[in-house]
This record gives sequence, structure tokens and C-alpha cells, in this order.
Amino acid sequence: MAEHRIVVPGVGGSSPLTHPIPWINMSTNDTLQLGLDIGGSSIKYGWGCKSGLQFFGSIHHQEKSLAGFKQSIGLILEECRQKVGLDRIGAVGIGTPGTIDLQSSKLVGVNPNLPFWTNLDPRDLIPPDLNIPVFCDNDANVMCLAEAWLRGPDKKVAGITVGSGIGCGFVIDGKIYRGAHGYAMELGHTTSFADGEPCFCGRNGCLEAYTSVEGLKRRMQNIPGAEDKLFAGSGLRELLDFSQDRIEARRIIQEGLKTLARGISDLVVILDPDVVVLGGGAMDGGLYSFEELVQTAKSFMPLQNAERTSVEKALEGNRAGVLGAVILASQGLGSF
Ligand SMILES: [Zn+2]
Repeated sequence: MAEHRIVVPGVGGSSPLTHPIPWINMSTNDTLQLGLDIGGSSIKYGWGCKSGLQFFGSIHHQEKSLAGFKQSIGLILEECRQKVGLDRIGAVGIGTPGTIDLQSSKLVGVNPNLPFWTNLDPRDLIPPDLNIPVFCDNDANVMCLAEAWLRGPDKKVAGITVGSGIGCGFVIDGKIYRGAHGYAMELGHTTSFADGEPCFCGRNGCLEAYTSVEGLKRRMQNIPGAEDKLFAGSGLRELLDFSQDRIEARRIIQEGLKTLARGISDLVVILDPDVVVLGGGAMDGGLYSFEELVQTAKSFMPLQNAERTSVEKALEGNRAGVLGAVILASQGLGSF
């Protein structure tokens, strides 16, 4: 397990991103927050405070089930207990795939990658006898929270994650915008094409069905060779390999880029953010050319939006989710 240290600029000085916070000066009595970023294949985790992470690690799901998740969380808690002591953990923050209903705190809708992960409260992953408060939110919201915090809490930041699905969040005044019921910012399930391709959510023509890894795989199903190469469980690597020498597959990816660009443009027209942050495994992995995506998105925007809104790559990559979960936990405790 790799250990990294990152620091948030603008908190306790103007340290550059690459300069680690002097953790050795932290008192052993300082309260830490534990951040968990639940993904389709692994849980990334770490602990730290509002100024940054002290520890970062990742654990692969032994088995994709509720019992498997609880087993992984048990190992993480044990590692945390051994390294810093659970009595130093003030709160746990969790970023998870799916939409969380504000009233019931339960996941709603379907999770194609994690079919069992619905209609339950993610906070129940943490044993109640630990008596540690737990705060959770959608993973894209949490990633966006970290990216917004890294850019300064006064910034209005929209974030989009491109992976097996499409995630989206918006942070305003340093806080996640959740909407009236917790359902806000589901860009992936806005309708890109009326009567279009089926989406895993059960509707048709969603942006996610045209732009995500799983959506693209589904669209390539009828291309010769797809049944062998784009099997269930295959990911970005297989998708990129498959499309390398197949014109039709490349056309579908290109259509995905254009559809995502239009989605980014629509988001900017509606929200007028300072920054749109693009992250997620498929974005990092080169599914779309970042430059072409930005250029195409800006070509769709009204001039005043294109000139004033910045579209940027995520600063913290796969650690943003954990940092965001730590910030979420701090905010939940009312620390800032
Ligand atoms: Zn959908």
C-alpha cells in the first residue's frame, strides 16, 4: 500500500500542492478524519484533517457484496487503529457511487456495477459500537468538494468524473449542492438524444449511455469481435485496445466526446461556474483527448461563457475522493 501526503493550499499558508504539510509537527492529540472513497473495484481510503491527507491507501474488493465491503472496511479500520488509533478519528466521511436520498439517507436507483449497493444506508458500513459519526455523499460530489477546496472555498466548481459511469457534482461556497432531495447534478442521466440508446438507469438517450465506458461498450456490441474483447467486467484498457483498429468503434468514441462536450457546455450555461473539473479513471486513462474535449465544449458555449469559464483536469486524481471524504467529515462535525 502506497503512502502519500498531500496538502491543500490556502489553508495554514500558501504551500504549493507538491509541498507536503509538516505532519511531524502535528500533535499526536490532533483529531483526524477518516475518508473512504468506495469504487466499483476498490475502496480508497486515508486519514487527515482539513489541511490535507496524512495517509492514503487502497484495498481491492475481495468480493463484490455487502459482506465483502464490510470485510474491507474492517481491514481499513484495523489498519487505522494500529497506525494512529481509532480514538483519534473524529468522524468518517464516505464517498460512494449512487444517489443518496436526503430524507432517508439511503441509496436510491440502480448501481449497474454494484447491484447490491442500493436501498441501504452507506453509514451502516461503520460498526455503530465505535460511536464515530459518519457522513456520506455521492462520490462525484465528494471529489468535486476536494477539487473546489484545492482551488479556494470561494470558487464555484462543477466536477465531472468519467469512468464506468458519469458522475457530476457542484460545490458552491465550499459546500456540496445537493438539490431539494439529494438528486442534483445527475448530468449522466440528462437526455442527450430523445428516444436514444438504452441506459442502465432504465431510460433512453442518457448522456451516460453515449459517453461512459460501460455505455460505449454497449454501443460497440454489434461490431465484429466485440463479444470476445468487450466482455462483462472488461474496462477502459480493453475498450481502447478494441477501438484501435476499428473505425466504427473510434467513431462511437468520437461521438461520445462530442456528446460529453455538449453536456459540459450545457452545464456551464446553466451554472456559470468558475471552473469545470474533469476527472475519473477514464479521463486519466486517455479515453478522450482532454484538449479536444475542452475545445469542442467551448465551441458549443456562448462566447461570454467560453471566455470566462475554465475547464481543467482534476488536480488530485484518484486521491481527490479520499481528501473530499475527509473534508466532508470535517464539515459534518462543523469544524469549518
Ligand atoms: Zn440514464
